[in-house]
Amino acid sequence: MSRVYNFSAGPAVLPEEVLQECAAEMMDYKGCGMSVMEMSHRSKVYDQIIKEAEADLRDLMNIPDNYKVIFLQGGASLVFAEVPMNLMKNGKAAYIITGQWAKKAAAEAEKYGEVVKVASSADKTFSYIPDCSDLDIPEDADYVYICENNTIYGTKFWELPNTKGHILVSDVSSCFLSEPIDVSKYGVVYGGVQKNVGPAGMVIAVIREDLITDDVLPGTPTLLKWKTQADALSLYNTPPCYTIYICGKVFKWIKKMGGLEVMKERNEKKAKVFYDYLDSSKMFKGTVVPKDRSLMNAPFVTGDADLDAKFIKEATDAGFVNLKGHKTVGGMRASMYNAMPIEGVEKLVAFMEKFEKENA
Ligand SMILES: *Cc1c(COP(=O)(O)O)cnc(C)c1O
Repeated sequence: MSRVYNFSAGPAVLPEEVLQECAAEMMDYKGCGMSVMEMSHRSKVYDQIIKEAEADLRDLMNIPDNYKVIFLQGGASLVFAEVPMNLMKNGKAAYIITGQWAKKAAAEAEKYGEVVKVASSADKTFSYIPDCSDLDIPEDADYVYICENNTIYGTKFWELPNTKGHILVSDVSSCFLSEPIDVSKYGVVYGGVQKNVGPAGMVIAVIREDLITDDVLPGTPTLLKWKTQADALSLYNTPPCYTIYICGKVFKWIKKMGGLEVMKERNEKKAKVFYDYLDSSKMFKGTVVPKDRSLMNAPFVTGDADLDAKFIKEATDAGFVNLKGHKTVGGMRASMYNAMPIEGVEKLVAFMEKFEKENA
């Protein structure tokens, strides 16, 4: 068996221990004589899997009792529509535009109501997080929306916006479980799991109870009404059973590692190794304002497209894969999610130093 260092932005690296456990349980889950993939989502065995997953997540994130956890299908991109469907009572919302994902979320919301773009970093190709301490948020806005970690551009909100009393809705797809957060500061915090938590096919949403109601926009599909999902404990229809099972294993792995504080320390360590080198390099340059840098996604360039391509090819051959930047920005991007070991980042940096010397 030969494993690479996978720097993909998503679907992304998972803990090897988790993959091995899944492999060991593939043919016979705990004496059931079948795989988790093959069992009824209404069975007793599965009921324990989904309940334990939720309990472990609540424990890890310290989720207050007045918040529901729901497992949703359709990816973060479908939640872009679910947010206005479930929350736009006044037909108006404020969006902070810090990259492609926030832009897409805003465009989707525009189908359902008025979107007021209260801040944006589009003027400098999303290389920074705008000052959100005193925004002009309409009094009657139903919520303020952010994408907390910008997977493509590599910036992160290190301070949440001042919403002036409005509900905060945050897409944390690419920083989910990377550090402790204070859930009580959010109305809705959600993320697609394929970045930092599990395989593709699911979103986890943590939603304050009072925001889960029957009062949704007319025409909202049954399945996209959060109350349907919350009332049925995410079992209104067949959920992504196997993805929930793997996420549950990842929650246990994080707990065993020491929880979100330890994840944060590990992620800071990895990011420091990487950014310290970037800042000292004469060939490679980071593309975002240092104080707004993400711990998870680090875009970088040489400034020469041919040299970028040569680097990506040689890195791939050396076992450092998926370093190509997003198609809209080019260059390179190293995603260093929870499951990426520090050795992976240290070895990548050593490889970059060697490449720099050889190509100076
Ligand atoms: C990947 C990503 C999305 C889109 O996720 P899908 O599950 O593919 O819809 C949305 N927001 C952020 C921040 C992402 O990183």
